[in-house]
Amino acid sequence: MLWPEIIVYGVGALAKEKADADMPFIEIARAFDEMEKITSRIALTQLLVNLIRRTPPNVINKVVYLIQGKLGPDWKDIPELGIGEKLLVQAISLAYNKKEQDVVNAYNSEGDLGKISEKYSQEGGKKGGLMSFIGAESVALTVRRVFDSFLKIAYSQGEGSRDLKLKLISGLLRDAKPLEARYIVRFLEGRLRLGIGDATILDALSISYGGSINYREVVERAYNLRADLGEIASIVANEGIESVKGIKPEIGIPIRPMLAERLSDPKEILEKIGGKGFVEYKYDGERGQFHKDGESIKIYSRRLENITNMYPDVAEYIKRNIKAEKAILEGEIVAYDPDTGELRPFQELMHRRRKYDVHRMMKEIPVKVFLFDALLVGDDDLTNKLLPYRRKMLEEVSQEDEKINIAKYIEVENPDELWGFFLEAIAEGAEGVMVKALHGESVYRAGIRGWLWIKLKRDYKSEMTDTVDLVAVGGFYGRGRRGGKVGTLLFAAYDKELDVFRTVCKVGSGFTDEDLDKMYDLFKPFIIERRHPRVDSNIEPDLWFEPVKVAEIIGAELTLSPLHSCCFNKIREGAGLSIRFPRFLRWRDDKGPEDITTEEELMEMYKRQLRRIEEKQV
Ligand code: ATP
Repeated sequence: MLWPEIIVYGVGALAKEKADADMPFIEIARAFDEMEKITSRIALTQLLVNLIRRTPPNVINKVVYLIQGKLGPDWKDIPELGIGEKLLVQAISLAYNKKEQDVVNAYNSEGDLGKISEKYSQEGGKKGGLMSFIGAESVALTVRRVFDSFLKIAYSQGEGSRDLKLKLISGLLRDAKPLEARYIVRFLEGRLRLGIGDATILDALSISYGGSINYREVVERAYNLRADLGEIASIVANEGIESVKGIKPEIGIPIRPMLAERLSDPKEILEKIGGKGFVEYKYDGERGQFHKDGESIKIYSRRLENITNMYPDVAEYIKRNIKAEKAILEGEIVAYDPDTGELRPFQELMHRRRKYDVHRMMKEIPVKVFLFDALLVGDDDLTNKLLPYRRKMLEEVSQEDEKINIAKYIEVENPDELWGFFLEAIAEGAEGVMVKALHGESVYRAGIRGWLWIKLKRDYKSEMTDTVDLVAVGGFYGRGRRGGKVGTLLFAAYDKELDVFRTVCKVGSGFTDEDLDKMYDLFKPFIIERRHPRVDSNIEPDLWFEPVKVAEIIGAELTLSPLHSCCFNKIREGAGLSIRFPRFLRWRDDKGPEDITTEEELMEMYKRQLRRIEEKQV
């Protein structure tokens, strides 16, 4: 019983504050100073409670952001303050009438520009007022002025912005009391580091406005539904703590994602979720939370960053295929190969994040979306609705096509069915399955990892231990960097019985730039006008080759694919066998096409792989 120690006073007093009330910034600076000296979380919470109680409701959001060392939640994309040491040194020298070199020297010996500013400010005060430097009147700083200046500094970009920043910072410092100067400088440097986490702020808000820690759950749920602590503080302060009980998600404010627990035994999984559940493919991509408000689409990541700019194509698909005017949906964005339709791994998708040329990347790494939840449709908050209802709504509002799909799923009641679906999922390039409860409590628990969702993943390490030798039967011209060159080859295995070559994979990785430069010339003697009569292929490459050149290939694992003709219909109706993530190792000119890996051998390898996966589960 630690919490009752915290003294609660003055509940409700704040509501009486005037709407335009502000707060002296010195209160914040003093609180920060005290926080630095405190090591116990209880004492820290108490201090925060006291500070929050003194804060007028209309600036509470700003105070919360200042405590977090931010100007707003990360997803708001407020530009970085980006104040380099050099600019700060200049601003300090301007504010306190010091030589820049003196500031640099002081910095080199003390290492803290915040403390140096504080010292200069004190000296100025002793000399009969800092403003005597410039002959102006000092104006006491308020939270609003400091915060708004920080915002202006962040948003001033481009030509002339350096001068503007200098003016704003030195202006603040001139008016700042010594302690204020310390924290203004530290904030601008991004070195506030008070070490106050969201959890402590949530505790302090519950105690300050609700009178007890018992409100913590309510406030936290509100925060999970609207991931903006400043906004939550504002609602609690202005409308009372009870008002957050009815809080709904709002389009444009990300919802903290529901997370899954992990288990490996299908029987245990079913028991945990109450005997039956939905089993869905667990796709290997990036989670996206899609907010649609008419024509405006926003996409947030698992970590609630705004990633709309990285996926303009996805934003278009959502706009086009989601029939509701307003909606918040969740799904996985997955890269795929447009020629074969095969899903590509997460690592490939991540190239989109690193590259600047998004529009080129959109062509090189096309993506699709697999939707798996609906959190808001129209004005209806679905987070309190059960999974079967949310799924029904998701299906109602989504028009499926090549780019937008509902995650593949079935309802299961027995472990064998679950296991069968798991094997199917991994054979088709998924990472495993998500098993989701659909009982009377299967609501969307934002921000919480619990047993309503359980993930069953296959071991990610390479399942294909042996290399295979395959013959090249066709080629594709590359795009982007490989534009105009033959950058990808179509490979086949050997059907000994019928003496034909059946396709297994397209290989585009493992080649050096030199290999790529020489590729066309290498195959020139073998280019033929149409498919070779001994080649069986459902894929149409840009160039057909005589089956002559043999290469050694390694892949992550063997997988079922509707596109390749190797072992077609032999393992499953409508599917052939393919190699996932194949890589070229070397040419095997010592081998002729009849010496390569046979269909039968590949089938054996696939069966061994399945056995290995099953053994791992026992
Ligand atoms: P976690 O997100 O649970 O902290 P993590 O980031 O390592 O863990 P995983 O263990 O791979 O991710 O599992 C969760 C992720 O799986 C989700 O965040 C989501 O991106 C992804 N996912 C893929 N398919 C689904 C699906 N059908 N339902 C829910 N999540 C899915």
